[in-house]
Amino acid sequence: MNEIIPPGSTVGVLGSGQLGRMFAIAARRMGYRVHTLSPDYDTPTGQVADREVQAAYDDLDAVRAFARGVDVVTFEFENVSVAATEAAAEHAPVRPAGAVLHTTQHRLREKGFLAGAGFPVTPFRPVRSPAELADALAALGTPAVLKTAGWGYDGKGQVRIASPAESPAAWEAVGAQECVLEAFVDFEREVSVVAARGLDGSFAHFGVIENRHCRHVLDLSTAPAGVPRPIQDQAVEIARGILEALGVVGVLAVEMFLTRDGRLLVNELAPRPHNSGHLTFDACLTSQFEQQLRAVCGLPLGATAHHSEALMKNLIGDEVNQWREILRDPDAKLHLYGKAEARPGRKMGHVTRLKPKT
Ligand code: AMP
Repeated sequence: MNEIIPPGSTVGVLGSGQLGRMFAIAARRMGYRVHTLSPDYDTPTGQVADREVQAAYDDLDAVRAFARGVDVVTFEFENVSVAATEAAAEHAPVRPAGAVLHTTQHRLREKGFLAGAGFPVTPFRPVRSPAELADALAALGTPAVLKTAGWGYDGKGQVRIASPAESPAAWEAVGAQECVLEAFVDFEREVSVVAARGLDGSFAHFGVIENRHCRHVLDLSTAPAGVPRPIQDQAVEIARGILEALGVVGVLAVEMFLTRDGRLLVNELAPRPHNSGHLTFDACLTSQFEQQLRAVCGLPLGATAHHSEALMKNLIGDEVNQWREILRDPDAKLHLYGKAEARPGRKMGHVTRLKPKT
């Protein structure tokens, strides 16, 4: 199915958070309609979509009905089951394909794919029992990080292990389930590359973005990243290779660690626009969201060059109450996601500040 989905068509989004909201805003600017499906109601995406469907992702009949009402299906939430993407694909093209989600939603499958294809990854071992955890700790040493294989994001489902004595408690803390143990990387910086691949195989990227986390959640992103040019080129080539190897049609973000001895290691993939790419809304001619739309609709990809340097700060939980103060700076670009309740750790919005390119 290689058809182009022209403006005036309807794009279906599985998921209803802020990524879908910003996608819907970009899609509407280009004359598309947007439908969203998720288990929730009055959602960040639903508030700006033409239609909000409330259904569980594993309600396959609801997913089929949703797909019948749209021209192409994409997603903003990657923990949608393969069964749901297959059900949707009976009625509309799904981009990126369900197989991409299947690989990236499970840390062991993702790392297996990356290592198997020759991409540099953090040393890791699969762990399915306390005995395997002990063996993995012996092989990788401490400190190490134990992460659940499925359903993890923003540091959820992960525990740092400082010494082998902590392993029983760590195994309990992650819920005694299939995990991956990773060597702890004493990185110099964390960076990401947000990239897109079109239906015709064309490739575009937003350069290398530098990320600072606070309690495992992204706090600040800056672009361009303060890393030497050869490292930037390497990071982009890693991203290009991954999008090609996975056959992505859409946007995919590659999170990487830059080690103190100058090596890039892939930490995680996200087969959708990424929090670190939010600054592209204000700093680039084409945002990551418009690029997702262009890619999944089979349109030519847009120019991604940064016209400004940018700093993006997430507004997490109560930080959203700073909106008055932020707006006192006429140069600050405030983005709020329409979430009623500012729970701790919840991403409520972000603010982008630009600086002319030096
Ligand atoms: P993740 O959910 O895998 O993206 O992890 C969230 C954050 O935890 C990362 O962005 C890092 O700041 C930190 N982290 C995860 N894995 C490791 C590791 N193997 N070594 C050091 N820090 C890590």
